[in-house]
Amino acid sequence: METQARLVVIGAGIVGTSAVYHLTGMGWRDIVVLEQGPLFETGGSTSHAPGLVFQTNPSKTVTELAKETVKLYSHLTLNGQPCFAPVGSMEVATTQARWQDLKRRLGFAMSWGLRAELLTPEEARERNPLLAAAGVHGAYFVDDDGIANAVRAAEAMARAAEARGAAFRPWSEVTGIEVANGRVRGVATREGRIATDRVLICAGIWGPRVGRMAGITVPLCPMQHQYARTAPIRELAGETREVVHPILRHQDKSMYFRQTGDCYGIGSYRHEPLPVDPDAIPGHRGGPEMPSVMSFTPEHFAAAHAAAVELLPPLRGVPLAYAINGIFSFTPDGFPLIGESMDVRGLWIAEAVWITHAGGVGKAVAEWMAEGTPTLDLHECDVNRFPPHARTRSYILARAVQQYREVYDVIHPLQQMEAPRRLRVSPFYRRLEEQGAVFVEAAGWERPQWLQANEPLLDRYAVPDRMGWEGRHWSPIQGAEHLATREAVALFDLTAFTKIEISGPGALSFLQRLCANQIDQPVGKVVYTALLSDRGGIVCDLTVTRLGVDRFLVLTGGGVGMHDLAWIRSHAPSDGSARVVDVTSMYCALGLWGPKARDVLRRVCDDGVSNEGFPYFSARALAIATLPALALRVSYVGELGWEIYVHSEYGLRLWDALWDAGRFVGMIALGAGAFDSLRLEKGYRLWGVDIQPEYDPFEAGLGFAVKLTKGDFLGRDALLRIRQRGMTRKLCCLTLDDPAAVVMGKEPILDGPRVLGYVTSANFGYVVGTGIAYGYLPLSHAGPGVKVDIQYFDRRYRATVSEEPLYDPKGLRLRS
Ligand code: FAD
Repeated sequence: METQARLVVIGAGIVGTSAVYHLTGMGWRDIVVLEQGPLFETGGSTSHAPGLVFQTNPSKTVTELAKETVKLYSHLTLNGQPCFAPVGSMEVATTQARWQDLKRRLGFAMSWGLRAELLTPEEARERNPLLAAAGVHGAYFVDDDGIANAVRAAEAMARAAEARGAAFRPWSEVTGIEVANGRVRGVATREGRIATDRVLICAGIWGPRVGRMAGITVPLCPMQHQYARTAPIRELAGETREVVHPILRHQDKSMYFRQTGDCYGIGSYRHEPLPVDPDAIPGHRGGPEMPSVMSFTPEHFAAAHAAAVELLPPLRGVPLAYAINGIFSFTPDGFPLIGESMDVRGLWIAEAVWITHAGGVGKAVAEWMAEGTPTLDLHECDVNRFPPHARTRSYILARAVQQYREVYDVIHPLQQMEAPRRLRVSPFYRRLEEQGAVFVEAAGWERPQWLQANEPLLDRYAVPDRMGWEGRHWSPIQGAEHLATREAVALFDLTAFTKIEISGPGALSFLQRLCANQIDQPVGKVVYTALLSDRGGIVCDLTVTRLGVDRFLVLTGGGVGMHDLAWIRSHAPSDGSARVVDVTSMYCALGLWGPKARDVLRRVCDDGVSNEGFPYFSARALAIATLPALALRVSYVGELGWEIYVHSEYGLRLWDALWDAGRFVGMIALGAGAFDSLRLEKGYRLWGVDIQPEYDPFEAGLGFAVKLTKGDFLGRDALLRIRQRGMTRKLCCLTLDDPAAVVMGKEPILDGPRVLGYVTSANFGYVVGTGIAYGYLPLSHAGPGVKVDIQYFDRRYRATVSEEPLYDPKGLRLRS
């Protein structure tokens, strides 16, 4: 056994082998892979996955991971045997709702670059003659989906990595991970210790146990999952080929199928979730041969079996020849866990990854380790994304169980989880509840989407109605709130914002290195800036306010807060010269926005709030209704106004004081639904959709916030290269020509049959009176007036590239 290594990988399933394959391909040597069981048929989840690869996913990132995986598996062989059979995939619809959703999935396929089509029932039966003659409305077909032989692919990748110098050690259970001063130092096994400052955990369902060895939570829950194979089917008699039929999903019944020679494999989520305590899963020594398999429970399979026979009648009366309750991982939000732990430096994680995504995840984690950032935007998969409550055992269990239930459900993008709720409430919650707030959740915070108390505004403002999909989880009250904010003034609960204080003698130089904009500003100045990767991609966008010579307040969105905090911490100087403290819970905040915002503030504040005394993009300490507050003259809705921060205990009084003062000028409480339409009408980008690490600030229209002349900063070299190379695409504002049309985001943007891009975010501009969509377009199509189409389900909406922002393009209202 080695005594030291550059990297120790724990687990030789499909994920561990893929990561090592890619790392050695990038020139890394001196890697040791420790596997508690034998190699290849390790007994982990990989050993018995039937290997169905469906690439389509509402998430662009997850689809990209699958596309990368298909590309990889398609070229892998072991002893001349292929690792992937590209037989295509079919998802059938047996309900109208599913059929509608398959049209939406076709849109995802076009947006994310997959070859897909919709089939009539007859066409579906041509591809799979076992399908029932009645009951199928149609199918969604993806040409290059197929079946991976996961064990073979893992072995092929391991052999290649071995040939490039990686060492694989079977029967080597990791029993401890040494951590000192927040850094990995080594790994303990029964065979001895390996000194290393980098560990990659790819331990699958054992992940939570291995994570605990280093003192961190790996937020996943192992779940039992049923898979069975029939005895030979008469209709397939004589079929010698392993697989010919496309893989099949029957999502209305939470099931999937694959052909295996003359038999059929049936996978089922159609049972009550059966979570498994991570501590109860045996290892290999002393355990059963396949520790990730539990005894089959036929009582949980009965409904699935009946549904299988209904969809594939030739299965009737055919007994099951093989059946298991396998185990694999579910996370609270259904996305994998990838990245370096923010709490233990050098501790990397690639967990809760399907066979479908393992090739892409291996590549992404290798890039991340070797090059500092992955080429793909991985924020949805970032291991650090969960706030503390989402790392508790009960939360993980509750959400993982629900993810299992909903795995194939039609999920609306605005659909809210039901439990656990009311985890984080601001001091304003009570007032919002009194106004009939319809709450949505983000990072555990409850925020109003709209407020029923604003319904009477509909007498005053005409708001176009929405039908169908785009009308779900929406109220016309949102439109009225939007218009009232533009006309009078609104109060918006901003408490969910993540607030990070950075202080110390090295704070300025740290922020200057981290941020693309000029941070060396007078005390009291607010700066909007992007934080860039060394590829020049936008990793975060936020504001930095200089509170003192070496004290700064960083403000960023609630949902992305943990991600941004991890990025900031991972770049903080190691000499302690800059302290990074998450002060989110210390402060609550209100947005006071609208043309009458100053009139309101003047009633409760003796300090000067004139345009000259308190200019745009500055911050001041104010006494508001006897409360010590920090106010920032900024507005994400594009109106005159302030963000007002006070210590949390003052919150309720702040609300009441402002509300009292605002009653006379038509103040309303604003919901997050209108907050979003207001920001889009004003052209403000939203990180995670409009901007993210795959896009640079120039093409995103944020060049104004980059100061290349200020000296060196992270991503500057890349930006210089990008500038020299020239721009090829641009984030554009599209207005929908049909004034009644609204899209939701992620739809493909087309010129005839050619897909140009996809909608990054969309909403309705209630002042400009048109549906708005943003998306990156090639320069050939980025000029104002260019006509394109947006595909929404089976409709095509004509749209026009427009000058942006649509609302107050000179920013006069902000500066009034
Ligand atoms: P594993 O394969 O479990 O590998 C983890 C390895 O870590 C194991 O070999 C384990 O022995 C080792 N290990 C753990 N702890 C230690 C330790 N302390 N020291 C050393 N080694 C350790 N996915 C699809 O994409 N398509 C499908 O069709 C599909 N079907 C499935 C059907 C079933 C029945 C099941 C159970 C899963 C299915 N999956 C499918 C999911 C897929 O199998 C898993 O997501 C995937 O295999 C996980 O790979 P992994 O490498 O993370 O985990």
